[in-house]
Amino acid sequence: MPVTAIIAAGGRGTRFGGGTLKQLQVVGGRAILERSVAAFVNHPAIADVVVALPREIASDPPAYLRGGSKPLRVVAGGERRQDSVANAFGAADSKSDLIVIHDAARPFASADLIARTIAAASESGAAVAALQARDTVKVGELMVRRAHHERNDAPLILSSSKDEQPWVVTQTLPRASIFLAQTPQAFRRDVLEAALDYATREGVDATDEAALAERAGHVVRLVDGEASNIKITTIDDLIVAEAIAGGRAKPARTGRAGIGYDLHRLVDGRPLILGGVAIPSERGALGHSDADVVCHAVTDAVLGAACLGDIGTHFPDHDPRWQDASSLDLLRAAVSLVHAQGLEVGNVDITVILERPKIKAHVEAMRRAVAAVLGIEPDRVSIKGKTNEGVDAVGRGEAIAAHAIALLRSNA
Ligand code: MG
Repeated sequence: MPVTAIIAAGGRGTRFGGGTLKQLQVVGGRAILERSVAAFVNHPAIADVVVALPREIASDPPAYLRGGSKPLRVVAGGERRQDSVANAFGAADSKSDLIVIHDAARPFASADLIARTIAAASESGAAVAALQARDTVKVGELMVRRAHHERNDAPLILSSSKDEQPWVVTQTLPRASIFLAQTPQAFRRDVLEAALDYATREGVDATDEAALAERAGHVVRLVDGEASNIKITTIDDLIVAEAIAGGRAKPARTGRAGIGYDLHRLVDGRPLILGGVAIPSERGALGHSDADVVCHAVTDAVLGAACLGDIGTHFPDHDPRWQDASSLDLLRAAVSLVHAQGLEVGNVDITVILERPKIKAHVEAMRRAVAAVLGIEPDRVSIKGKTNEGVDAVGRGEAIAAHAIALLRSNA
């Protein structure tokens, strides 16, 4: 069942203060938004991702929102959260039967929580992750301050600050039936459509889509949330977030390295494609696909670092699916496999060996193309060209070769 993820990141974080938008704050070395998006891009149940961003970021999104291993669209958010979600819903793949919505400000939702929420929604139509209340819950209302001589059975004053109007308890709720809503929240397509229509029709504002679904008359299942799935709302939350990120980063410290090598014959009448970029050349590389030695070497390095075999295992040259395929697509598929193992690419370094032409003028375009597929910034993709000094087949211009090394890290 195809599932689209919507990441609601359209807010400006008015409770956060400071110059940087909350969703772009860095926690444990990665932006909050990057972490939230990666949790869904890397999830095996998710087919595509739509991110609703403030207009000024949507027009020039960060590199981790460009390309990557799954279709990822960026839309401008709206005035209210539900407007952002409606915009994103409009950009979701029309084949998706289920939509899962997540707050960008919750960077630590686990893959298991996402899977459980999706499973509950596919059964019941709608589901929301929620934590059962641990503290006793009081309902309060603002007290109208009375002069002390008026009566002595005045309600209990919880706050006695002179400037603040105090709150008083009007009710104590049974804790067992109180749930604190988180995201992800997941909906069958028709249920979300009905919820958003209801909001438009009735002029309702809601802080989450589950509330709209409830009010539109749908059953919403509660799924056990996670205490670590915190919502970063104020600067103070960053301290807790750093601690959670630090705790999860341990297995990533060592990283995993992989090496890749590729060689193709150079012949007349073939294009020369390197890192997805067509290089003007008298001769091109001979091969089943586009014979892109850069992508092939990087694909092997990435697969090798994850101990997932090699390019020939996953993309055999007798398989018609890869006939004339762009090798960027092969690399994208390899990155997907690596993501499914809980790993992601940290950086790659590539050496291309050929006598001519010089590739220097094309290196920047190649770095950008490869980085987009790896879902990383171009400054983590290095490409160097050299000749073989006229020695051997490569030196005689009969072949082109590339070496690549990739470092993977945990995507937790
Ligand atoms: Mg090859």
